[in-house]
Parts: sequence; C-alpha cells; structure tokens
Amino acid sequence: MSSRDSLLIERIDLHIHTSFSDGNYSVEEAVKIAEIKGLKIVAITDHYSEVQYRSNRITRSQFSRYVQTLNNFTVLKGVEVEILQDGTVSISKNKVKELDIVIGGLHSINNIKFWGDYSPIWDPERFVEKVRVTLIKSMESGILDVIAHASWLPEIIRKETHRKITKDWIESVVDAFCDEGVAVELNCAWKVPDERFVEYCVKKGVKLSIGSDAHQRLMIGKTDYAINILKKMKVPEDLIFIPTSLF
Ligand SMILES: [Zn+2]
Ligand SMILES: [Zn+2]
Repeated sequence: MSSRDSLLIERIDLHIHTSFSDGNYSVEEAVKIAEIKGLKIVAITDHYSEVQYRSNRITRSQFSRYVQTLNNFTVLKGVEVEILQDGTVSISKNKVKELDIVIGGLHSINNIKFWGDYSPIWDPERFVEKVRVTLIKSMESGILDVIAHASWLPEIIRKETHRKITKDWIESVVDAFCDEGVAVELNCAWKVPDERFVEYCVKKGVKLSIGSDAHQRLMIGKTDYAINILKKMKVPEDLIFIPTSLF
C-alpha cells in the first residue's frame, strides 16, 4: 500500500450519527468536525426505522426533513436501519433511492439487546446460529450496502465471541457478503470484526467499509481500528468500500 493509498483510508468515515437519532451533536457540527479532521469521504447515517417505533430512530414522517437537511451539506446521505430478527430490514425500497448508503445493524434478537442488556442466554450456540441466519437473510433483501458490527454479540456472551464465532460461522457469513455484494464494516467504536474475519473477507474479495459509529463529537473520524487492520493486513485499496454515488 503506497502512502497515497494510506492517506485515503485515513480520510473515510461512513458511519456517523447525529442528533437526528442518538448522536449528541447536529449535522452541521458533525460536518464541521469532519472537515477539521481532514476527512474526504463522509456519510451521515442516523438510525432509521419505518416498521416499528423504537426510541432514537428517525421515523417515516421525519425522513424527508432528514434528507433535506443532509442535502445542505457535502456529505453522503445514509441511514443505519434495523435488521429485524426475521431478517427483514426497517426501510422500504423507495426510500433507499434517496440515499447514498444504507447500513444494516442487528441490535436485538428475541428481545435481547446487543448492548447494555445482561439477560441470560440459555443456549448461546443457538443464539449465535440465529445471528448468522438473520444476517444472511438481511443481505438477501438487496437493500443493504454495508452491515455494521456483524460479529458483535450481547453482553452476556461477548467474552466468548472468539469461541462462539467459529471459522465455519465466519466463512458462511462472509460467503453471503460476497454473493450479495454487501460490504463488511470495520466498526471502530466496537472494534469488530476481528482479523480472522477480515482475512477471509480479503480472500473472498469482500469490500470493507470504514466507520467510526460516532455518537459523540470526539468519535467522528476516529477510525484507528480500521486503519490499523487495513495496514497490518496490507488490504488492497480496491477492497475499500466507497459508495457508488461517488463514481
Ligand atoms: Zn448499530
Ligand atoms: Zn451506528
């Protein structure tokens, strides 16, 4: 990787929240911070759900105001939609047309939230299998460009991630990313997926997306986790995901 290329990967952040959902700063502030940090390829991707009410999600009726606001700035217009446990996603196809990037995020299964929820999981193997099936189904929707934090597990089983997320699990999920043309996000807030996962992505030619998943000002453009992995594994530049609207 030449120094020019490494400069590019240091200037991308395709996963930023704002006060439209659960970030604690405005779009204007986010854009300003991204500029100050020298970022060149930036997407605002607030949580969006039109299928069921969830707190801190942009609703269907707020959608056009969100898109109009983003139109005032030189940023990519994106959303992070819910991957529901039946593998459907929380956005309709006609809304997707107005956006540059749609990220899918799996945030709960069987009422167990993947963050801050210490509910017991009685059968972790079955749960992790359900995650696998749900992620694959969501990619088949043809709606998602990227899946965020794909190998992230709920609190109670997270310590076992390395054992529960097996080689077979990784290969099965990454094969689907490959078949469906969906990019894997290197999620810098939660530092997933790990190198085993990325290695198989590179082998299969799956694109890798760089996202800070910022919810606070200081997190915007903080993508060291991705940059370090990409440099360490000498990932070729053509595997870095760039939304097609930029071509
Ligand atoms: Zn998420
Ligand atoms: Zn997010």
